[in-house]
Amino acid sequence: MTKSLFLEDSYQKEAAAKVVSVKDGKFVVLDQTIFYAKGGGQPHDTGKIIRGSEVFTVVFVGKFEGEISHEVDCAGLQPGDVVHCVLDWERRYRMMRSHTAAHVLAALLNKGTGALITGNQLEVDHVRFDFNLETFDKALLETYLAKANALFSTDVPVKWYELPREEALKIPGVVKMAAAFPPDLPSLRIVEIVSVDMQADGGTHVRNLKEIGKVELHKTENKGKNNRRIYFRLV
Ligand SMILES: [Zn+2]
Repeated sequence: MTKSLFLEDSYQKEAAAKVVSVKDGKFVVLDQTIFYAKGGGQPHDTGKIIRGSEVFTVVFVGKFEGEISHEVDCAGLQPGDVVHCVLDWERRYRMMRSHTAAHVLAALLNKGTGALITGNQLEVDHVRFDFNLETFDKALLETYLAKANALFSTDVPVKWYELPREEALKIPGVVKMAAAFPPDLPSLRIVEIVSVDMQADGGTHVRNLKEIGKVELHKTENKGKNNRRIYFRLV
């Protein structure tokens, strides 16, 4: 099983690794990785796998049969190769900022209106957000964005840690997307935005809300009677 370095340190930009297996020339499994695999509403990372003077560009990272597979742009890597991995940090850091912003907005909306988040998808330039709310008021949404932005200018730490499953499930609202968790996990990874939100989550986040900067509403859509969709982005 590949060691997921990003779960402990989302700020690690480079790492050594060893190639464990290669499928069809271009699908590479490493013994440890800094690359996030697409999933949980967060896109995959991109970057480079370097062997000596040769550079293999990582174009996609997915999880297949429990293994993190890195798709590279050209064949050549072999099992046993010692490589150096480098993240496209600019892309990842935007994901960390917008992902953490999404937690804050979801928590504020839920606390203030009782709305439940039914889906969210991070993209490189925006975040899409679906929630249940009967009355849809753009001015009201703007007040929540303003509240979120106010929090982003204060010093609020973000922590992540493992908790035994039983203990984790006692935290109110900790599993916001219940279907995302296989029932046999003995422990859950908790992402805690101190005094704002706690949830079980395998994504990458910033360590302090101050790093987010500011977000703005991009557009809104009605998707059925109670289903609202908003798009927001980092300013
Ligand atoms: Zn998250």
